[in-house]
Amino acid sequence: MDVNELEKIDNSVFGQITEMGHEQVVFCNDQSTGLKAIIGIHNTVLGPALGGTRMWNYASDTEALTDALRLSRGMTYKAAITCLNLGGCKAVIIGDAAKQKTEAFLRRFGKFINSLGGKYWTAEDVNMKTSDMQYIGMETKYVTGLPETMGGGGDPSPVTAYGTYLGIKASVKKVYGTEDLKGKTVGVQGVGQVGMYLVEHLVKEGAKVYITDISQEKLKKVASASGATVVGMDDIYDLDMDIYAPCALGATLNSATIPRLKCQIVAGAANNQLAEEKKHGYMLMDRNITYAPDFLINAGGLINVYEEYRGDYSRKRTYTTAEKIYETCLQILNLAEDEGISSQEAAIQMAENRIAAIGKIKLPH
Ligand code: NAD
Repeated sequence: MDVNELEKIDNSVFGQITEMGHEQVVFCNDQSTGLKAIIGIHNTVLGPALGGTRMWNYASDTEALTDALRLSRGMTYKAAITCLNLGGCKAVIIGDAAKQKTEAFLRRFGKFINSLGGKYWTAEDVNMKTSDMQYIGMETKYVTGLPETMGGGGDPSPVTAYGTYLGIKASVKKVYGTEDLKGKTVGVQGVGQVGMYLVEHLVKEGAKVYITDISQEKLKKVASASGATVVGMDDIYDLDMDIYAPCALGATLNSATIPRLKCQIVAGAANNQLAEEKKHGYMLMDRNITYAPDFLINAGGLINVYEEYRGDYSRKRTYTTAEKIYETCLQILNLAEDEGISSQEAAIQMAENRIAAIGKIKLPH
């Protein structure tokens, strides 16, 4: 990018919101509890916006805003491509989850959510638990991710892992002509809530699994339960593997890591895996690596909370909906091939087409 191009980028708050196409961004500030949160409402054409709340010790407010904007846009596409009648949104709370999360803090956040009158529905994300949703739920009904004992869908991670596993199978079908994972080598980065369940599916089907994580404790637990082989955190990128499954944090597909990959497929659960969507989507394509768009194959968690939001939560219906991820993933990979575009671009195109079509039928006639 040359200097002239850099000068054209508008980094102001409204510049960023306009660039990403958001409808509304809400800044929440409460002095008594120290709550500082940003709610990014990206698009509500398909329905009320549903997206989790993440609590993170962001280095700056700008970093928090960028995260809220990127994550909420991803939620719009996730809901659209999964054929859910939901808009896209995400909330971020700025602070130290271990120190700041108290009943009053969470209930104050619940009051902010309530003030949006149902335009935004929340759920768990990083550093937020089902018990936190219970406190938020004391101040608003616009909350999902509640425990099963309270009529909620409980932990969404097993459904997310199942959808990711189906996305891996669809990608394997596309590349190798058969969806069989027996003998395939998979590197799973991050064996937290989702990664742990994903490893179970892969091992059960006879894949050879390599795992890495910051937490030695989690590695030990997952390795001894599954027989997976532990590798170093940086070694995962150089591994001789068929499939790389990022299941930790975002932006691990970037200009430094993509040239190192020796795999045929990238398919994992982490949100926003591509550091720069367009550039790195095409970098993978140029290296002949098939990429299963993250916002599609990790949609199991959203499907789980969607069922809860609709009322009358059914685990069976949740899994039946999640099963569609396999066909949609194949459809996207074929569309990308037919049109000579990156799979990320094909997925966004498909999601935007649905939003445009449904948007039209909502206009007065
Ligand atoms: P988690 O926090 O339980 O697990 C993440 C794991 O990654 C942790 O064990 C952490 O130690 C590890 N990790 C962090 N940085 C790492 C690094 N550099 N190298 C190796 N390991 C590292 O989170 P989760 O719920 O399992 O979610 C995993 C990813 O999937 C996140 O990006 C999340 O946004 C996304 N996701 C989760 C769900 C869900 O239902 N939980 C749904 C959709 C998307």
